[in-house]
Amino acid sequence: MTQSVCILGVTGSIGQSTLKVLAQHPDKYSIYAITAHSRIQKLVEICKQFKPKRVVVPDEHIDQLRQLLLQAGLADIDILSGTTGLVSVAQDEAVDVVMAAIVGAAGLLPTLAAVKAGKRVLLANKEALVMSGNIMMQAARDHQALLLPVDSEHNAIFQSLPSNYLTLENTGQPQLGVSRILLTASGGPFLDYPLEQLSEVTPQQACKHPNWSMGQKISVDSATLMNKGLELIEASHLFSISEHFVTVVVHPQSIIHSMVQYIDGSTLAQMGNPDMCTPIAHALAWPDRLQTHVPALDLFTHTHLDFREPDTNKFPALNLARQAMRAGGLSPCILNAANEIAVDAFLKLQIKFTVIPEVIEHVLNHVQNDTAVNIEQVLETDMIARQIAHQYVNQIRG
Ligand code: NAD
Ligand code: MG
Repeated sequence: MTQSVCILGVTGSIGQSTLKVLAQHPDKYSIYAITAHSRIQKLVEICKQFKPKRVVVPDEHIDQLRQLLLQAGLADIDILSGTTGLVSVAQDEAVDVVMAAIVGAAGLLPTLAAVKAGKRVLLANKEALVMSGNIMMQAARDHQALLLPVDSEHNAIFQSLPSNYLTLENTGQPQLGVSRILLTASGGPFLDYPLEQLSEVTPQQACKHPNWSMGQKISVDSATLMNKGLELIEASHLFSISEHFVTVVVHPQSIIHSMVQYIDGSTLAQMGNPDMCTPIAHALAWPDRLQTHVPALDLFTHTHLDFREPDTNKFPALNLARQAMRAGGLSPCILNAANEIAVDAFLKLQIKFTVIPEVIEHVLNHVQNDTAVNIEQVLETDMIARQIAHQYVNQIRG
């Protein structure tokens, strides 16, 4: 029997890599449901190739999609829309595996629905976990969902930890002989860029990542180092470990994808060519392994690996994230919302690159932090933080 897969965000960078892995293994996986936000033509092409049973798009694209599917002879595909559609396919009884690859807060409710339905959830959508933190982790425990990291660093950490680590109770302390997590960062496109010129960089420059090809939002996050900040919070929740035990290490070659240190002096690393198909295949098949097209690492072509400390003066976003995690409660949710608005404003040329962390700091200082007790409270705080961020962006634009 094949495993039935739902891909939330199929038209994105992670969605495409997921299709690439699945296409190699039609004997093991079938695609049941896929979702997209804007690229409808591309979605139809995917439907032609993979013949899913259900698709989800925003309300405004339903008519266009119905027309295109009809023309393609695929009128029997069920079309759903909006957040209710996303939630519906994520928790569908027919689905075994959910790839959570929507970008940003829009992925929160469907990802949580998949977790509550006890699915194997492959987590790329880090913002969903950053926002909801303990609520998502508790839901995974309560509903026996397998929440597996696709983010390359977290997947590397998972591979380097004892195999039962994900099921441990959250004590905040490292357990089973682990002493520290080393979260690697490429440093992004501006690693060696002069600080004085950083305020003038363009979205195009920011989106040109040296090692990875990714969606626009995460590319800008990599350039500000907020991606590493979000990943610090993600690691802390996934591996039930206080952020105090997570050290960020800049490693420009992106060959080591992260490491775990143990009390006996051991450091375990997971290495590989930078290609998201590897962590995707790992999370799909764990504890088994799946063949991918990714070539084995040729160490003779990588004659040295470099490591440095992050420059938090040049990239203040990393410390803002660490502080938000330390503050706890809804602080990471506020941080994430402010970052989403600031990145969007930067991409629309409304604010300068160096103003992104300013917006986040302002919003963190002006939205009430509290303990998050339920998801409604998370969504409400997310909305308030977005409003304050918009106001501040408009104020700066004059
Ligand atoms: P992307 O921009 O390429 O794709 C995003 C997908 O989400 C698209 O399918 C889009 O249609 C959908 N989407 C966007 N807004 C939506 C909305 N409001 N409602 C519903 N669907 C919406 O992004 P990506 O690079 O594939 O990243 C996806 C997620 O994976 C992000 O959370 C990112 O941080 C994470 N991630 C990506 C990479 C990578 O290499 N690209 C690596 C690690 C983690
Ligand atoms: Mg990552």
